[in-house]
Amino acid sequence: MSSWYLECSSCGARAEQHAPVGLCPACTQPYLAIYDGATPRRDDLLPRWDMWRYAPALPLLRGEAPVTLGEGCTPLTELPAVAAEVGVRRLWVKDEAVNPTASFKARGLAAAVTRAKHRGVAGLVVPTAGNAGAALAAYGAAAGVPVRVYAPETTPRPILDTIRAMGVELVTIDGHIGDAGRMSVAFAAESGYFNVATLREPYRAEGNKTLGLELAEQLGWRLPDVVVYPTGGGEGVIGMWKVFKEMIQWGWLPPETRLPRIVVTQSTGCAPLVRAFDAGADRATPWENPVTHASGLRVPGPLGDRLVLRAIRETDGIAAAADEDTIRAWTARLASRTGIDAAPEGGCAVAVTAQLVAAGRIARDAEVVVYNTGSGASYRA
Ligand SMILES: *Cc1c(COP(=O)(O)O)cnc(C)c1O
Repeated sequence: MSSWYLECSSCGARAEQHAPVGLCPACTQPYLAIYDGATPRRDDLLPRWDMWRYAPALPLLRGEAPVTLGEGCTPLTELPAVAAEVGVRRLWVKDEAVNPTASFKARGLAAAVTRAKHRGVAGLVVPTAGNAGAALAAYGAAAGVPVRVYAPETTPRPILDTIRAMGVELVTIDGHIGDAGRMSVAFAAESGYFNVATLREPYRAEGNKTLGLELAEQLGWRLPDVVVYPTGGGEGVIGMWKVFKEMIQWGWLPPETRLPRIVVTQSTGCAPLVRAFDAGADRATPWENPVTHASGLRVPGPLGDRLVLRAIRETDGIAAAADEDTIRAWTARLASRTGIDAAPEGGCAVAVTAQLVAAGRIARDAEVVVYNTGSGASYRA
């Protein structure tokens, strides 16, 4: 379907697309996929109702069937009552809760497992705050590839239950995702399993591009002024930023299209990207003692820090945090006002949007799209 190579996001070194690739060996930064064949065409979208509709823009080979559970094609719902409460002209929520295993992680792992299966890996391992482990477990089961997941023992119970239900190896640890990350690297080295940790391989970000592709198509092939994304490791944001630029470059959007301002939201209990953004730094320093009930945001030292900070600055974006009580209040409000069973991460995104509008940092006449990245049901004990 498409032709691409891999390029280090830092030094520009190239790798072959079919190599089992981790980080760039020279600078230990992530690779990204660069499409080098015929320009992908919007007219070639497939008549199917999952994220592989966008196959021309994704790393899929001619004749290759993706590993899929019907991920993507999630609703984009305009919510005038929430817009009024937040104080902006128009506001939509893109509800990722309806994906397989109930979060947007399905998109990235569908793409990563598709590529890994093609390479015939011995198995797949991931460190997770929860949802990535559930998604990998499901796509591993779908692909018939063995999976091991490292997750904090504090991961919400329903997510651990989902991982177990898929029959994969689950190791719960006394620590956070950074600790799980070190164990995954060690296990991959000893077992030969391939590590699909956030941005350690390039294809989860490619799958996450469909967050932006769908948004553009659902709005009639245009983009909003602002997108708000609850951010942990950063691959959701990086995928969207990448595809916004690709869509303009490929002529899928009018050439005068402005990139949406990318707003990264975190909890004040773990806000390394907000701290780095406020300091004008191009790297984040690890957050000490990370604590938040929005477990997807409990990523103290994201590997994609440089790319996320670049995405924010290049789009005149913002990084900002809300405290735990404010996150709880907006999560509950979103459910009771709209019927969307938001994850705390989605509540965090709406909470920070309200704060930024009140502070005059998001204009009242803006069109804002907020991502609800997961399901409230996954977090109820
Ligand atoms: C993983 C996750 C996030 C953070 O996404 P990143 O791509 O790691 O920044 C946000 N919300 C939920 C529900 C998640 O599972």
